[in-house]
Amino acid sequence: MIKKHYLFVLTLLASITIGCSHDENQGTAYQPNYLPSLDATNLPVGNRPITMFEDDENPSKMYDKTDRWFRVNQPLQIIQKGKDSVQISLYSPVGLSDVKIYAKLPNYEKRFLIYNFTKIPAFHRSSHQIPLVTGKNDYLLETGNTVTIDKIEGFSTGAIEFSVESTDPLFAKLKKIKSSRLVQFNDAYHVNELGKFLPMNPVLAKEAITMIINYSYALSHPIYYDTFTNFDKYKQEQATLAGTAVDGALNWHGNAEDVDGVYDYFSKAVIEKTYINYIDNRTVYLAMVGGAAALGGGPLASQWESGYVAGHWRGDMSVWSHEYSHHSGYGHSSNLANSGQGGGQQEMLTQFYKYLIHLDDLPFTNPDVLKGWTKTKYLTGTYSKPIFTINPKNPFLLKYKGTGKWN
Ligand SMILES: [Zn+2]
Repeated sequence: MIKKHYLFVLTLLASITIGCSHDENQGTAYQPNYLPSLDATNLPVGNRPITMFEDDENPSKMYDKTDRWFRVNQPLQIIQKGKDSVQISLYSPVGLSDVKIYAKLPNYEKRFLIYNFTKIPAFHRSSHQIPLVTGKNDYLLETGNTVTIDKIEGFSTGAIEFSVESTDPLFAKLKKIKSSRLVQFNDAYHVNELGKFLPMNPVLAKEAITMIINYSYALSHPIYYDTFTNFDKYKQEQATLAGTAVDGALNWHGNAEDVDGVYDYFSKAVIEKTYINYIDNRTVYLAMVGGAAALGGGPLASQWESGYVAGHWRGDMSVWSHEYSHHSGYGHSSNLANSGQGGGQQEMLTQFYKYLIHLDDLPFTNPDVLKGWTKTKYLTGTYSKPIFTINPKNPFLLKYKGTGKWN
């Protein structure tokens, strides 16, 4: 069999130009020499591999907002550092296998493979030289063909676009997250108002990261979107199941004060925009409260230690949903942040979240991946292993009856 080989050569002139030499020499198959694959569980010291959020890591590291941040839709973060290297960080309590990191240059339309990881462990970080700066190399194109690229001396920040592919089923779930919230930890709350807020530590940070990824997946889920944008229907169905009239507000309403049950109901168009407020790219600071009330607003969303260690594994997301709604711009006059009026976002989200745990349709449903409750040295309260159960009257269970899993 004669195999056609397409050889593209990129050379560096004043700027990068693509010399395209179609080598279709029949019979002389080019033997590409690709870079070796990498195992991030066993990297040489030169790659400076670390595990972020080790239990005993100094909390000042997690509170360094310039160093520890990620977007919920990019828990595997690839950042160019300087002209010639990248930093790879995985914000996930479970590692990934078979991870392919592709690069794309501005003047060449095809993506090519620059790092091929057999494994990346949980909360891993390491540094890697960009292979393009070390010399002329062959790279596998996503089409399966080969590109040979000459040495390029260095790159300005943003010149290379990185993207990730993986056959790992966890990655498939993470890739579906539509929210692009930027997650950070902020010590200003407990530094300025100690007691009202409490300092967190890496044990709690790992739980918070796990929760915000799961929660962001839930917000991105097609059934959640469908229920959110047809909340009036959800209310009607709940009432029908209960054999009662619709209790309280018939649909989402906003921050205007309600007089005698006269709600400022949102139009369909406003409900669509409201949904976007929950998943856009604003910054959220995950914090912990110690006083009588959890708090949210502006970038802040907070809850108690118990919520981080145990509650989210049981799907007890009512408080979190409430504070996140404040953070997303809604006050107590709105049923987006008010559990009254026959139930609003808090009630619906919590029921939905529990249904997703029941379906095993969240990125992380096994509390053993962190075992936070066992790390008593880092906790104020005492907890046992969270056990999940679903109420047989859960409205999503009654409606979808075990179906609706997001592929
Ligand atoms: Zn509130």
